[in-house]
Amino acid sequence: MSADGQDGGIESLESGPYHSEMIIIRKGDPDGEEKLRAFHERMRARIGDEAFEQHMRTRELMKHPRELTHDQKTRLRDALAPVMRDLKVTGQAPPLIREESREDLGDDAICAWIEGPDGTGQGIRMWLNGSAGYQLYSLAEQLQEWTADQWTTWPPCPIHPGAGHRLEPEIRDDEAVWLCPRDGETVAAVGSLPSSRGRRRKVR
Ligand SMILES: [Zn+2]
Repeated sequence: MSADGQDGGIESLESGPYHSEMIIIRKGDPDGEEKLRAFHERMRARIGDEAFEQHMRTRELMKHPRELTHDQKTRLRDALAPVMRDLKVTGQAPPLIREESREDLGDDAICAWIEGPDGTGQGIRMWLNGSAGYQLYSLAEQLQEWTADQWTTWPPCPIHPGAGHRLEPEIRDDEAVWLCPRDGETVAAVGSLPSSRGRRRKVR
């Protein structure tokens, strides 16, 4: 993305209800800076000062990711540990976790970045304003979506091997769990999936 309209670029509001407007500035456009400034003014008017400032901080972080603090890294590692453990015991390659923020959600979340073996990446959010159960549920869901992007059905349901469905993260009694979507049974707490080591993988 362009720095400030100097050499062209694309900018959009990519999340929430704001994705309807996008601006493309061509390289060398003499009016580029002015167009970008006008675009930002419209954006600020539409979404309000607070959301606009957050957008601009995120825009800056996309260009220059900010390394997490030592405390944030520790908290993120601790929070992710149960899901990383579940990935490991089920033979699913984990993502590369970059301990750096590329978006700004204020005090609501610790934001980091995860990458797959092909180098594609996406943001991950550790929510700080909910219960511990919700936080873990959310991380499990985000990593599951990441595995889905890698064309993997994860975690495979151990109750119905070969059925082709995955377990779904859910919250039961304020605890993050994996449940089978077919019968709604809780299979394990997130972080306690049974190991599939030694089990023959189905050859497609
Ligand atoms: Zn099942």
